[in-house]
Amino acid sequence: MNHDAAVSKANEIAKDVLGPAARQNDKEGRFSSEAVAALGKGGLLALMLPGAAGGPGLGPRSFAAVTATLAEADASVAMVYLMHMAATATIAAARAGAGVAPTLQEIAAGRHLTTLAFSEAGSRSHFWAPISRAKKNGAGVELTAKKSWVTSAGHAQSYVVSSLAPAAKGPTESALYLVPANAPGLSVAGPWDGLGMRANASAPMTLSDCKVPPELQLTDDGAGFQAMLEVVLPLFNLGTTAVALGLCRAAVAGTAAHLKGARFEHLGQSLGESLPTLRAQIASMQIETDGLAARLDDLIDHLERPRETTVLRVLESKAAAGDTAISVTSAAMRACGGAAFSKHMNIERLFRDAHAGAVMAPTGDVLREFIGKAVLGMPLF
Ligand SMILES: Cc1cc2nc3c(=O)[nH]c(=O)nc-3n(C[C@H](O)[C@H](O)[C@H](O)COP(=O)(O)OP(=O)(O)OC[C@H]3O[C@@H](n4cnc5c(N)ncnc54)[C@H](O)[C@@H]3O)c2cc1C
Repeated sequence: MNHDAAVSKANEIAKDVLGPAARQNDKEGRFSSEAVAALGKGGLLALMLPGAAGGPGLGPRSFAAVTATLAEADASVAMVYLMHMAATATIAAARAGAGVAPTLQEIAAGRHLTTLAFSEAGSRSHFWAPISRAKKNGAGVELTAKKSWVTSAGHAQSYVVSSLAPAAKGPTESALYLVPANAPGLSVAGPWDGLGMRANASAPMTLSDCKVPPELQLTDDGAGFQAMLEVVLPLFNLGTTAVALGLCRAAVAGTAAHLKGARFEHLGQSLGESLPTLRAQIASMQIETDGLAARLDDLIDHLERPRETTVLRVLESKAAAGDTAISVTSAAMRACGGAAFSKHMNIERLFRDAHAGAVMAPTGDVLREFIGKAVLGMPLF
């Protein structure tokens, strides 16, 4: 599979599977197993796996394009996809000797969905500082933790879980572990009923004396933090930026269709023909959306050719994307008036979904705090 084939497959799945079901899945808070099956069958769950692991080895450009395409049809599914991709990269980057080959084979075959279980009730959005601490159990460990939000909870085949290493001396001396869904002691701890992203099962999970054998420890003790920053963060921020772009594109398209289709019959004109204020609003939405697309391209370029400014771009993109998605979908709500407010169209789902990006860790506020410190030459942690 090459880049164009991946994007074309994403378009096909978005049109045939995501689009028709998005409204009802949102309404019912229903996780789309059909979407995950289609992504697996279409080879997209293995998108960035290298050839040696059975994947096409595509890069950040393809990941971003596929994610934005999915988000345009259903951001909940795009979020499931991006969590899977970040977790898969972490599994693929496991320390030497880790026994992850069977999991990677299943991902390559499109039969395995994985996700990240980092955030904890105790340290909230500060995912880099887990409260839970792994306990030595022979050669392996036992994990006990309260994970506050886990996208695809109860639907994934495995979870990449963070915990302080057994002998950790500081709040960031964590390790990452691969926990299969059927591990005794792992359970979904409650329902998911969010304002937006309602169809992605981001429920809390509990680990209770959950035994992890040594071959499923993904990082050395204390190296979890480094994997979070170097492997997960760039992909996660790229993916959430792509989700935001998909939401913005859908908001512009939905608003344009409404302004062209809805009419003032007494004036003999569509809303768009009649009101310059609405044309100005959709123009602003388009400007912000294209600006975000340019920012996404710039981030991709920085990830493809890493340089001094790459870390800053990784931080900036998610902060900006969260704000842009909220701004563009808010403008869409206003431009489409009562029709949007009373749920006659998909705009209010986009508006609700758009609010997730800014509160998902690293939150927009935390990113601004990091960026400010970086600009002032202060240590980030
Ligand atoms: C739809 C959805 C899916 C999610 N999926 C996952 C998942 O799959 N895996 C996972 O691990 N987590 C997941 N999360 C959790 C997410 O990453 C955050 O941990 C969570 O949203 C934080 O919420 P909180 O109420 O605990 O925030 P809090 O930490 O209580 O923050 C409250 C406010 O304080 C601000 N704030 C916090 N710290 C600082 C700071 N240092 N400087 C400035 N402002 C600050 C925040 O920006 C926020 O506005 C998900 C969340 C959502 C909403």
